[in-house]
Amino acid sequence: MVSRATSATIEGIMISAPFALFAELPPPAIVALASVFGLLVGSFLNVVIHRVPKMMEADWAAQAAELRGEAAVERPRYNLVVPRSACPHCGTQITALQNVPVISWLLLRGRCGHCAAPIPARYPFVELLTGVLAGCAIAVHGPSAAGLGAMLLTFFLVALAFIDLDTQLLPDDLTLPLLWLGLLFNLGGTFVSIGDAVLGAMVGYGILWTIFWAFKLATGKEGMGYGDFKLLAALGAWFGWTAIPAIILLASAVGATVGIAMILFARHKREVPIPFGPYLAGAGLLALYFARPLGGLFGLA
Ligand SMILES: [Zn+2]
Repeated sequence: MVSRATSATIEGIMISAPFALFAELPPPAIVALASVFGLLVGSFLNVVIHRVPKMMEADWAAQAAELRGEAAVERPRYNLVVPRSACPHCGTQITALQNVPVISWLLLRGRCGHCAAPIPARYPFVELLTGVLAGCAIAVHGPSAAGLGAMLLTFFLVALAFIDLDTQLLPDDLTLPLLWLGLLFNLGGTFVSIGDAVLGAMVGYGILWTIFWAFKLATGKEGMGYGDFKLLAALGAWFGWTAIPAIILLASAVGATVGIAMILFARHKREVPIPFGPYLAGAGLLALYFARPLGGLFGLA
């Protein structure tokens, strides 16, 4: 059996040690470094957001073919590293110089350097957002295990929110590691006690599972996906069970407001599902900074 002291030490060595290097720097320099790191990660998140759903679809197609007893089709390798990023319009590979976060997009005026096809502003936006949020994570939580955890959680939530917006999917390959990471960081009580974290994961999954089945039995419709349960379970692992009611309330309130606005103003068809994941992710980001007051809303924290 691992004693409490030992697990806290393991956490300390694994998580805090890298920060010893930075602890000597003045705080603004550390925040600036974190922001630049966030910009670079944001550039990678664009690849994750674009490719993970395609990798999942290829996986499903391969599994379906196998079930039908068809011979496996040789496909070109496609993962987060291979092939190199290329312009979707002309296929020209993007050079390292054209891949500098935000700056390249501005210098190229939002167009491919080869064929001048427009590059969506979403790419620099995701980079900028990730950079700013990484800076905030370190500014508020400091160069510590909490700061590293806040940054990692932010990266996962940005990727999940945009993947869900694009595809209505929340990949297990992201939600489940996020849950394990939450438990790991809370082994030594970085955000909440490990007991609260374990309960948080169970309550997070259980509440949405219960709502899902109650809604389905009452209306015969499916109001959300299992990915939403897993994402809330992950947030529970990070923030503990006391934060769950506030996270659901916040996500629902923002989701309902945006949903109604879309139906009213954008003539969004009511039947087209509006993903819940981005609002859950947004509520998770807010919890990073307001977990205590949010839990306090319900007199729990
Ligand atoms: Zn091009």
